[in-house]
Parts: sequence; C-alpha cells; structure tokens
Amino acid sequence: MRYLILSDPHANLEALEKSLELAQGKYDKAVCLGDLVGYGPDPNAVVERVRKIAIAVIRGNHDKACAGITDASEFNIFARLAVAWTRSILTLENLTYLRQLPAGPAKVDDFGIVHGSEEDEDEYVLSAEEAVRVLRAQHMPLVFFGHTHHQGGFCLSDAGAFSGVPLSAMQDGLVTNVPLRDGVRYLINPGSVGQPRDGDWRAAFAIFDETARMVEFYRTGYNLSLTQEKMVSASLPDPLIHRLEFGR
Ligand code: ZN
Repeated sequence: MRYLILSDPHANLEALEKSLELAQGKYDKAVCLGDLVGYGPDPNAVVERVRKIAIAVIRGNHDKACAGITDASEFNIFARLAVAWTRSILTLENLTYLRQLPAGPAKVDDFGIVHGSEEDEDEYVLSAEEAVRVLRAQHMPLVFFGHTHHQGGFCLSDAGAFSGVPLSAMQDGLVTNVPLRDGVRYLINPGSVGQPRDGDWRAAFAIFDETARMVEFYRTGYNLSLTQEKMVSASLPDPLIHRLEFGR
C-alpha cells in the first residue's frame, strides 16, 4: 500500500491540484494532517477536493479557527483577517465538515497522523530538543506531523541516536527517499502543500510506501501568480500574498 501524505494545503487550490497531478498514479490512499483552510483564496474548493480523496483527515489550528471552534485570538492580525474572510465565504456544508473534523492523533493502518504532536495538536515541533522529547514519548514507530510547514523530520533509534532527515534537491518531483530502519522511531513532516515556510516556495508532500518501508519527499512548482491574483481579488492581506513567493 502507498499512502499520499498531505498537510497544510491552506486553501491554495493551485498548489493542491499541482501536487495531486504529480502524485497521480503513485498512491493508493490519501490522508491529510490538517489546516485545509486559512490564508489562501480557495477554501471551499480545497475542502471539497481533500474530502473527496482522503480516507483520513484531522483538524489543524486554522480549521478550528475558521470553523468557529476557537476564536483565533492567538493568531497574528493577518492570519486573523484571513480567518474572518474564510468564515465569510465557507459554505454551510464545508463549515459543518470542518467543525466535525477529529483532533489528532489518529491511527491509519500502522502509522499515526497528528497536526502538531501526539500530546498537543497545536504544538510546533521545530527544534531538535522538541523532536527528541516527542519521539521519546511516541507510541507508534512512524508518525506524520504538519503545522510547522517544514518538509523533513526527525528520527530516534532505540539506542538513542537522534538525527534530522536531510533534504536538499532543487529539481521538481522526487526530492529524497528515506528508507525506514527497524528499531528507529520516525517523526516525518511531508511539508506544506499550500504555504511552505522552509525557504522553498514550491508545494510539498510525501508518499509512504508501506511495502518498501520508504518515505518519498516531493516538491513541485505551481501557478503561484494565479493564487496571488486571487488573493488580491479577495483583499487578503499583502504579507500573506508575498510570503508565498519566499516560502516563509
Ligand atoms: Zn498550517
């Protein structure tokens, strides 16, 4: 079985469609680690697309805010404006869908999915210290997480050896294969489809090949200027429009 792992599409339809195009024929089942909406100009279309293809979806902090489960008071002003705009255009059906999304962690066959971490769905696991703590407490050998919008991840062996997952290639398509070893716990971030923050503007996702015990990381360019034009038309805040081109 091959699983498409999507995270943080953030209402960016062009990035999502391009990712699905590249992943076409390469996976059997799809899952999404949350933040379907918030920031981008196509929340309804992205919710509908993810809903149609994914066998498991958990909520992110932006889904909670846009669905009115939280009040977005912890967001910065630009994210809050995007939440307000998203709420104003979500259809009742899509709003209802977002409201009922489960919190992570969820188990999908023999791996786990979370938005932030197993313990706290809103936690950012960015540093080595945070990753080591999370990996030590991790029950399943393989967990996929999102929220930081940084493609890559961390691993910890039973003997205590910790390392990050190195990613470097600049070509579009398959960036790196990471073979999974026995006796090692993995915390893997597929990257953000719709708003990468790891310095690379291109849409990111991963595919987990269960039989080969391998995680494949992908990047792809997409029609960024179209996404940005739509954001201008929707009067979404300028900093949100410009950050997309820097991958910040
Ligand atoms: Zn996010």
